[in-house]
Amino acid sequence: MRVVEKIAEIKSIVRSQKRTEKTIGFVPTMGYLHEGHMSLVETSLRHNDYTIMSIFVNPTQFGPNEDFERYPRDLDGDLKKAELAGVDIVFIPTKEEIYPKGYKTYVNVEGITNLLCGKSRPDHFRGVTTIVNKLFNIVEPDKAYFGQKDAQQVAVIRKMTSDLNLNVEIVTCPTIREDDGLAMSSRNAYLSEKDRLSATILSKSLFEAKELINKGERNREKIIDFIIQRINTEKDAIIDYVDAVDGDSLEQIDFLKGNVLLALAVKFGQTRLIDNMIIACE
Ligand code: AMP
Repeated sequence: MRVVEKIAEIKSIVRSQKRTEKTIGFVPTMGYLHEGHMSLVETSLRHNDYTIMSIFVNPTQFGPNEDFERYPRDLDGDLKKAELAGVDIVFIPTKEEIYPKGYKTYVNVEGITNLLCGKSRPDHFRGVTTIVNKLFNIVEPDKAYFGQKDAQQVAVIRKMTSDLNLNVEIVTCPTIREDDGLAMSSRNAYLSEKDRLSATILSKSLFEAKELINKGERNREKIIDFIIQRINTEKDAIIDYVDAVDGDSLEQIDFLKGNVLLALAVKFGQTRLIDNMIIACE
């Protein structure tokens, strides 16, 4: 496994791989790797001749009062995991390599970035689309792998890829959960023991809402209220949002039909967790 810091170096490796017609799979991450990240890697390894992972805690997707400085980092541990999994290249650029002095260009998807997480994280998706676009230009992947865990992120990236005619296929991989249902996340490391236990209410409420929908409930308000009530049984949970939107367009819906995305963001102390579920309604 090669560990590369410089854009020029990775571009030259990509160029030589392309000459031999190898297909390139790409897994962008912010590191502190867990089984969720590794499931994307495993899928890429199955689909492609060559797998590149990036580890870069991207400053432009964090708001001024968010956790950029204290975001968990463990480069040595991450490199071991990547090597064991069979990743071919890990790209670990510095902040200066990606955003040199005088950097001025940003990519922004309009509309769907203003709802759900976009409401409380106004510039977040602009940072995500900017870095993902840059990384796509650097790595030139045939396919790129993203987790359903970040459902809005993957919808925004799909929109950018389609609107800008990018030559990459976006592959969405299922959310990997802990045994008790909590969606795996690097940010789970912040949780106190008590909040870690309370946080299981997020997936529980989504699974229970799914049961209600499967039994025939189609009223959006009722489903949202049900989830809110369930989460509020944990007194330390502070709800940012609970919503039900169209799973493909993320547009508002009155009644549940087609592919519905139930999505939520909840804070425990300073730790903001997200989770979601896609439910096919008839
Ligand atoms: P991050 O390092 O948090 O930016 O995540 C990098 C990629 O891993 C994103 O595409 C995430 O959606 C994906 N990911 C994070 N957690 C999970 C999970 N629990 N299951 C599946 N994919 C995940």
